[in-house]
Amino acid sequence: MKKYNFNAGPSMLPREVIENTAKQCLDFNGSGLSLMEISHRAKDFQPVIDEAEALIKELLQIPDGYSVVFLGGGASLEFCMIPYNFLINKAAYLNTGTWAKKAMKEAKLFGEVIEVASSADANYTFIPKDWTCPEDVDYLHITTNNTIYGTEIRKDIDVNVPLIADMSSDIFSRPVDVKKYDCIYAGAQKNLAMAGVTLVIVKNEKLGKAPRQIPTMLNYLTHVEKGSMFNTPPVVPIYSALETLRWIKANGGVEAMDKLALQRADILYGEIERNKLFRGTVKEEDRSVMNICFVMNEEYAELEKPFFEYATSKGMVGIKGHRSVGGFRASCYNAQTIEGVNALVQCMKEFEAQH
Ligand SMILES: *Cc1c(COP(=O)(O)O)cnc(C)c1O
Repeated sequence: MKKYNFNAGPSMLPREVIENTAKQCLDFNGSGLSLMEISHRAKDFQPVIDEAEALIKELLQIPDGYSVVFLGGGASLEFCMIPYNFLINKAAYLNTGTWAKKAMKEAKLFGEVIEVASSADANYTFIPKDWTCPEDVDYLHITTNNTIYGTEIRKDIDVNVPLIADMSSDIFSRPVDVKKYDCIYAGAQKNLAMAGVTLVIVKNEKLGKAPRQIPTMLNYLTHVEKGSMFNTPPVVPIYSALETLRWIKANGGVEAMDKLALQRADILYGEIERNKLFRGTVKEEDRSVMNICFVMNEEYAELEKPFFEYATSKGMVGIKGHRSVGGFRASCYNAQTIEGVNALVQCMKEFEAQH
């Protein structure tokens, strides 16, 4: 039976990305060696990093004055590296969910943290609006897509302070006005590659300004100066990122990804609204097009487990909601197909007809 992968992360990748990466793992560029065996300093691997970096700059139209680096440690290490490198006195954070909270926790180790707004009281079912950010903070940190709660900031906001964004779960799903940000970071395993690499886009003029000693590996400057080659980079994940970037470009770039994301979301949210069994969990204007969360309507609460089992029997994978929301979450990253979304909708319709 065909499987439809709605996992939240690690998540679905385009099939050709997986196949091409697998081929290189067996024989890298006809060298007779595996991608896993070559030296990262081999002349063969430098072109991989170079092409990946160039494609990122091209796809996101990154202006001059920014560096692109590949790091280890996941987005979670960035929660600490961001304040280590950029928090001098105080920083502001928009609290939109679990990941934002984790980022704030690390920042508190380095200085004063101001929560500009929070939707915690409403279980993060919306993105707070109408807040103001103090002008004397070193930066404002936002999470553009809240993977767990299914809300998203899909417009690049205007603020009067340096802006830093965790884009782990929506990077490359839409055009981004990079010049509005001092730093953008993303763990790769949601929308870009297999797990094991983190993408960081950083404004050069912000580097090396922190008034503290920073351990070498945690200093962005180290990795920028060494072109992501200060130590052994995760070569296979970086290669898989390259393949995904080629795939994004071949399929029309981030504008096309944006269109597809909106199409998928329209289909699925449309069905959630139409179907008497289900309801969405977040405020309409803040709905994520990447992680689509829904629960059973109250009168059908006891059908949650049966629906899960029915959908699983039809090939749906990974639709269980995060425990902090419950219900269901269909993650629809770039690789998700309209066919996949239609298959899920079909399950919802069939299940409704049975009840
Ligand atoms: C998954 C995720 C993280 C954590 O990423 P790791 O690479 O596992 O550390 C952080 N932020 C967001 C928005 C995420 O979706």
